[in-house]
Amino acid sequence: MPLNPDFQNEKQVLDHGYVRLMGVMGDDSSPDSDARISTGVAARSEAQQTTLVRFLLRHKHTTPFEGSVMKFEVRAPIMVIREWFRHRTFSYNEESGRYKQLDPLYYTPEEDRISYQAKSNHQGSGEMHPEAAKFVQEWHEEQVAFEEGYNELIQTHNVARELARLNMPVSHYSTFVVTGNLLNWFRFLQLRMDETAQYEIRVYANAIFEIAKQYFPRSFEAFEDYWLEAVTLSRREKELLAKMLGQAISEECLGGAIPEPGPYFTKREAGEFRQKLLRMGLLKND
Ligand SMILES: Cc1cc2nc3c(=O)[nH]c(=O)nc-3n(C[C@H](O)[C@H](O)[C@H](O)COP(=O)(O)OP(=O)(O)OC[C@H]3O[C@@H](n4cnc5c(N)ncnc54)[C@H](O)[C@@H]3O)c2cc1C
Repeated sequence: MPLNPDFQNEKQVLDHGYVRLMGVMGDDSSPDSDARISTGVAARSEAQQTTLVRFLLRHKHTTPFEGSVMKFEVRAPIMVIREWFRHRTFSYNEESGRYKQLDPLYYTPEEDRISYQAKSNHQGSGEMHPEAAKFVQEWHEEQVAFEEGYNELIQTHNVARELARLNMPVSHYSTFVVTGNLLNWFRFLQLRMDETAQYEIRVYANAIFEIAKQYFPRSFEAFEDYWLEAVTLSRREKELLAKMLGQAISEECLGGAIPEPGPYFTKREAGEFRQKLLRMGLLKND
């Protein structure tokens, strides 16, 4: 499907990065129509499509989302790419420092990004660091020094490009193409839009999300509702909640809270919600 020129198909990310949509297969009706191959019954209305897509994602019936594909070109610091490539079910191609001298682009964070090591989260950043400006300047100087040496090894001494990059910092930008179906993208976004993900990959995930949901609004809305914003409780957490609240909810109270059935809260969903409350011990089973 050709890209929609009225949509935003490219977003700048960090100081020199971007995500650029290269191609899309499928449209917002595709997950619904792929799912309906099972029954041979075509959707009759937009509302029916919405209802089915939301049901599928709610219950993790994910294969109908594998038939729609988005391909992006991305320029990102190597440290971001290293995290990104852990998502093994995408297809990738990356520019090669063996074939070409990489562009002299380095990620230098904004000063307000420079923090102390977080105290509780061993992977994360904590409070702002008062010496941020000095560190940013030092990083920049190291990047300039590396770039001069890299350039000299290749241009002056004809050292093989594959070796000249030996000391390349992970702040160096590289470019790759990544192709994935909607399920790949949901999984990636679920992990990398989360606040526990590193800021530098989170801003890429957010940019992908903004572009992608223009093309598949129904699917990404359901993703947001049932995956991204959903909360899973462990057995222990359920028990604690039940203990704190007791059997506080009556059938009458539940009935009064349930909205009129529609694609955004079907009769079936109301039944599922009731079952969840029962499983959590929060509903008086009259
Ligand atoms: C906040 C955060 C911190 C992280 N920290 C670390 C870290 O410290 N060290 C580290 O090494 N990694 C780390 N990771 C990477 C993480 O462990 C995963 O490798 C990464 O998130 C990709 O997830 P995935 O395997 O689900 O994705 P994909 O590789 O895209 O796989 C998608 C799904 O396919 C299935 N699948 C794929 N391959 C297999 C397989 N071989 N066997 C069975 N099922 C498979 C699984 O269901 C999987 O969820 C971190 C990730 C996050 C988000």
